Order: sequence, then structure tokens, then C-alpha cells
Amino acid sequence: MSDYDPQRIEAKWQARWAAGGVFRVEDADAARATERFYALEMLPYPSGRIHMGHVRNYSIGDAVARFRRMRGAKVLHVLGWDAFGLPAENAAIQNGEAPRRWTLRNIEAMRGQLQRLGIGYDWDREIATCAPEYYRWNQWMFLEMLERGIAYRARRHLNWCASCGTVLANEQVVAGRCWRCDNPVTRREFDQWFLRITDYAQELLDGIDDLPGWPERVRTMQRNWIGRSEGARVRFPVEGLDVSIEVFTTRIDTIFGATYLAIAIEHPLLMRLSAGTSQEEAVRRFADEQAARSVEDRFADAAEKLGVFTGRHAVNPLSGERIPVWAANFVLMDVGTGAIMSVPAHDERDFAFARQYELPVRPVIRPEGAEPLDPVAMTAAFPDDGVLHDSGEWSGLDSETARRQMSARVKERGIGEATVSYRLKDWGISRQRFWGTPIPVVHCEKDGIVPVPAGELPVLLPDDAPLTGSGGSPLAQVPSFVATTCPKCGGPARRETDTMDTFVDSCWYYFRYCDPRNDAAPFRWEKAAPWFPVALYIGGIEHATLHLIYTRFWTKVMRDLGLVALDEPVANLFTQGMVIKDGAKMSKSKGNVVDPDAMIDRYGADTTRLFSLFAAPPERDLEWSDAGIEGCYRFLGRLWRAFEKARPLLPPAGAAAPADADEGDARVLRRKTHQTVQRITDDLGPRMHLNTPVAAIMELLNLATPLVQNERPTAGEAWALREAFEVIARVLTPFAPHVAEELWEALGHPPFVALAPWPAADARALEEEVALLVVQVNGKVRGKIEVPRGLDESGALAAACADRNVAAHLDGKSVRKTVYVPDRLLNVVAS
Ligand SMILES: [Zn+2]
Ligand SMILES: [Zn+2]
Repeated sequence: MSDYDPQRIEAKWQARWAAGGVFRVEDADAARATERFYALEMLPYPSGRIHMGHVRNYSIGDAVARFRRMRGAKVLHVLGWDAFGLPAENAAIQNGEAPRRWTLRNIEAMRGQLQRLGIGYDWDREIATCAPEYYRWNQWMFLEMLERGIAYRARRHLNWCASCGTVLANEQVVAGRCWRCDNPVTRREFDQWFLRITDYAQELLDGIDDLPGWPERVRTMQRNWIGRSEGARVRFPVEGLDVSIEVFTTRIDTIFGATYLAIAIEHPLLMRLSAGTSQEEAVRRFADEQAARSVEDRFADAAEKLGVFTGRHAVNPLSGERIPVWAANFVLMDVGTGAIMSVPAHDERDFAFARQYELPVRPVIRPEGAEPLDPVAMTAAFPDDGVLHDSGEWSGLDSETARRQMSARVKERGIGEATVSYRLKDWGISRQRFWGTPIPVVHCEKDGIVPVPAGELPVLLPDDAPLTGSGGSPLAQVPSFVATTCPKCGGPARRETDTMDTFVDSCWYYFRYCDPRNDAAPFRWEKAAPWFPVALYIGGIEHATLHLIYTRFWTKVMRDLGLVALDEPVANLFTQGMVIKDGAKMSKSKGNVVDPDAMIDRYGADTTRLFSLFAAPPERDLEWSDAGIEGCYRFLGRLWRAFEKARPLLPPAGAAAPADADEGDARVLRRKTHQTVQRITDDLGPRMHLNTPVAAIMELLNLATPLVQNERPTAGEAWALREAFEVIARVLTPFAPHVAEELWEALGHPPFVALAPWPAADARALEEEVALLVVQVNGKVRGKIEVPRGLDESGALAAACADRNVAAHLDGKSVRKTVYVPDRLLNVVAS
């Protein structure tokens, strides 16, 4: 009898899967298949080592992929590498290794680790986003967008991470800090490249309704991120200057209560307003101070709200009132218009600011049926809708009617209009970093910005650049890269030295998997179409507003460029939980990291995968437990030994069922076997209950074990045992595929169980065993009813009373006594 030796089994089957091309998908297969399933996991960053979070993500994906494949679908399951990005550059700064070399070495190492885990990928379709064959299509699509005005260059105040030395998109600032390095983010002004995602804001919002296969939580996060609000733009003329300040407000009905305007310190009019007033110096000092503060300091809810009078007044266009203009640190330049009308009586933040700087509070909305509020007694704003007062001709209207009428009036007078505003801003994609896709334009003194002709793509990243972590864009310091000629006039020109945000790379990689070697186009839609929309996309909730909004946007742009014919790329999204240990996310700094390789060395890949699926529902956090992984290892060992013991007893593969296969213990085992099939089939479907099947397999093994111990089983029992092991080999495949292959082979089947059909539950075997129960009332036979075998007395009486004839004879009587012979006879004595 051999011992369970995962190292031997796993290496053997990994080699055979590779040699047999088990997970390879040919384009012709896809076209022919009646059912297709695209199982996709978010592509990893090649940091050098896989971690337990990866193991979990890919084990979930592989379990579903293997299940669907056995159920008869053609399955596309591929992995690639999100290979551009900052860590490669930081590693270069630290130890001088070129980013390309560092990245490719890491990819090698991680691919080896994933192959050791036995994840069933079609490695022939693997891609790395840092390969020129890939990023040239980022450049090509950028040029298409430039031509259509979707890509554009503008000077803006942007988030700046001094530690990463680069600008960040709004999506990459989390609670005022850099999403990557956690450094506080400040605001700086730059010439930047943008993608006009705001053109798609409404469509991105509406599309969320068409994504029932996405978690509600993600859909809500996307709605909030897009942040649609209906309101009005209104222009307030500035006294003494020939300019107006435009504000965006969702509450134009409160405009008579505006007691000051507040503008962002980055507002282009700010210095013009204060110029020549006694406030000029104070305003300059305030703006400089605030600009140096981090975004978190300025914009967090708890941050101090500070401001300074600009020295100017503006005129309320509806009331004609003269109100002061302030600069305030909490007004964001890129929200609305960078200026707000402040209505302290009806807005919390304006109220706090007004009290702090002793600005007037003037209520103009009262609750329905109540008296107007007393501004002196107010301790908080009244932010709700109500009825207008002290609002000129609009007094007496309800808030909603007033908003409609006032918006119409400002439009009529040419001083504003009703409008929709989004929190979503255009996506700034410029990064002053080396390790990314070069933006394919040149700057010519004569012609300005000139696109690189498509035929000259890719604009290759140089192999090397001086990477020091300071002094601005590294590409700007590579003269051979910068110096070029203008494609238009042939004169000298300078290449753009910004590279693209790496979130561009991950926008469309999974389309490329469908046609990974195409050198004439990003991909051909005919090849991708059979696989779209993605049947299951698995990744962390942290991508809800970054990657998952960008990729939806990119898909819509590709549709408008004629590259794809669909609106939404992903039909079903699954966000898996984290792997935690001692109550915290695994991290080097906390010293609670469990290394997957060490686990595979010790227990094997099957155990490691089994544990990461068994220990928690996939959407929840998984608490690492040494005892838990031990338990999974012991289970596989027990299965192995039970099988080795049973093997000599089993009839040959394909033997017909003997006459007694449906009797006694054989029948009980068969019922459990088929219940297990039914249960696991349900669990692996859209419900994704990946943690419960393992328990079901354990129960089945427990029930089979006594028969295994029996050295002389009946023919029926031996046959039922074979059936049980054949089912176990197949239903275990999604979870522990190597040991499943080994069992399958030992059961006398040709390889591969990975391609074997999924078992079907036999309805007859599932039937409960029944007995024919004779029911007597006072000694006379009144019915014969079918009941489950072994039914207890009270159950039998209940079943008897449910029989119409028996019930008729009991009608109006009470039961005095029953005599019960299980499975045979029930006599009811009644009077
Ligand atoms: Zn940073
Ligand atoms: Zn030129």
C-alpha cells in the first residue's frame, strides 16, 4: 500500500496536463462549442512571489473553470501580467537592476509557482503588458482617441504624490492618500493628458442597471463614484470687475439665503479678485499655505474649514443683493465649477463656516406648516426641502417647484441654466515615470503636438534610463529618446516623456487573451466575440471604482471605435474576500505572511487549494488556520488510504450493476453518492458555494469507510463503492485536481478526469426507500400507504391520518392507542 505523496502525484499530472494540452483552447473549438464559459481572474502585478490572496483568487477561478469544463462548456481560462508599474522602478532605484529584467524574472518565478499549484490556464495565451507587442496597442488606441477628441491635453490642478514622484487620478487617492504608497497627496498644476471619461458618465451610470450579475455593493460604489447630481449653474457678476463667478448648486431654491460666495484657492479668478484690495497679501498667503497642505488635511470631513475674504463682492443675480466673496480651503476646484454660493441656514458646512467667521445666517426655507426658523437660535442648518419665504416672487412655493422655476428664469436671462453635474472627472493618464507605455506624440515648435504615425508604432521604451527617484520624468533624461523629428514638417521635435497610467494596460487585456499574437490589430472581434461578455470575473472589492470603471469606459470607447460590438464587458463579477491571519490582512510589516510555496512543499498543492476554498465562503474573509490546513491534508490522506484499501475489492471499470446494488447498505451508499452529486452540482453553479462541497465529499467518504473495512462486501456493496469513488474523483477535481486524476487513473480510466463529464445524479438512486404500510382502524384494514423505510410511530400515524379513507374512518373519534410494526403495520384503536 503506497502512502499519499502529493509531491510525486502533482508533478506527474502537471507534466501530463501540459503535454496533453488539456487547458489549451483553439479558436475553432470556441466557434464550434454550443456552450462557452470565460473564467477570468484579475491579472496580477509581477511582484516576484505569489501570496495567499492570489492562491485563493485563482483557486476559486479554477474550481469554477474546471466544473464548467466537465459540464460540457468550452472554457477559456488564461493568465497574464500587469507588468508595468512603480515597484519595478523602485527596485531599479534601490539595486540598479533594469525594470525590464526585474519584471521578466519575477514573471518567470510566479508562473512557476502557479504551475506548481496546478491552476488550469492556457499558457499559450499568456501576455505581459510591458511587451511592445502589447503596449503598441495602448498607443494605437490612444491615437484613435486623440483623433476623436477623447484624449486631450490640458493644464489642471492634480493630485501629486511626492513620494511616488507622480500625479494620481482621483480614483487613486484614497482618503487623501496615495493608493499605492499611502503618502499624503497634495495638489499641483500640470500639463496633462486626459481621457474624456465624462462624455460617458451618463452611459456608465445607466449601464449599472444592466449588470444584475454584479454585487450590489460594487454597483452602489460605482453609482456614488460617478455621483450624478441635478442642479443649476448660476453666474454672479463681480462688483468693480468685468467678470462673473459661476457656481454650481443643487439648491437654487435657497439662493435668497446665500450670504457669501466661496471659491477654491486654485480658482483662476482668485488673484484677480484680490488684486489691488487690502486683502491681496492675506489671500496670497492663505492660498500658498493651503496649497502646501495635503488633500486629506483639506478635504476630510473632520478637517478644519478655513477661509479668507478676497476683498471683493458679487451680486446675487436673483435678489440683487451684494455679498462678499471668500476663498475657502474646502471648495474643490474640480468639483462643479470650483465655486459655491454659501447658504448657511440650509447647509451644514456653510453653517459651520458662517458661525466661525461671523457671517450672516438667513433662513429662506421653512418646514411645511411651520413658522420660519430663527437665525439667532439656530444651532444647525435646516438642509431639507420645504416652503420658500423671503424669496421675492418665489416665496410660498415648495422647493421643487421653485428649483424648476428659478432655473428657467436664470436661463431666460442668460445668467445660468439647469444642468447635471458628475463627481466623475476626466481621467488624467499622464505619469512622470519610466516603466509605462510611452504616450505616442511629439512636440514640434512649429506644429505643436503631432501624433506619431500609426505605422511607426510602437514608440519603444528605451532599455534603460537614469532611475534615481528624483529630478522629474526619467524619460526626459534620455536624450536619444527625446530627440526626434516632427512627422509633419521633418524639423527637430521632442518626444512626449510622460507615460500612461498602468490602469490603461488593464482596461482591455482580457480581450487580447482571445487573440494574443495578433500583430495587425489589438485583437479581432470575431475571435473575441464568442467569449464575451465574460461569464465570471473574479477580483478584490478594492477594484470596484478604479479598474472596473475604467474597463467599462474603455469597452464603450472600443465599441465607438468599431473594435467590439458590446456595451458591457463583464456579465458576472465576483469579489472574493481577503486572506487574513491573526485578524489582520497578511503583510510583511505585520509578520503574519504565510508563504504558498512553503505550504505546497509541506502539504502539496491540492491541500493548499482545498483549504483556501473550504475554510470560508469565497466572498468572505478567510482566517488562516494551521489546524485547518492540517485537517485538509489529513482528509486527503484518509481518502487515499480508504481508496487503497478498497481497490482490490472493486469490480472492474464499466461492470454492470449487480442485482443487489440497490439493497441494504449498498443502496444507502448509492443514495448518499447521488445526493452528493446533486448538492455539489448546485453549489458550484451561480450560487458559488465553494466551501460546502468539501464537507459533502467528507460525509460521503465517512459513509463509505465501513464498507471499505468490510473484507467481504456483497457484490452490490463493492459496486456501490466503485460508484462512490468514481464520483469522488470527479467532484473533487475542481478542488484537488491532482489527487482526483490519480484516483481516476487507478480506477481504470484513461486520462484525464479534467476532461471527463461531470456526474449526473440518478433520480432513482436518490429516492428514499419506501415500505408499504398496512393501516387498520380498530382491526379492519382501511388503507395501504407508502412511507419511508424506518419511519417512527408518530410519523406513521401522521402519514395514516393524511390518507383520505383512513381519515374518514377516524372522523369524529379520538385515538386511544396505536400498535405499530415498523415498515409493515399500523393499527389505530379509536373511539
Ligand atoms: Zn505614492
Ligand atoms: Zn513640425
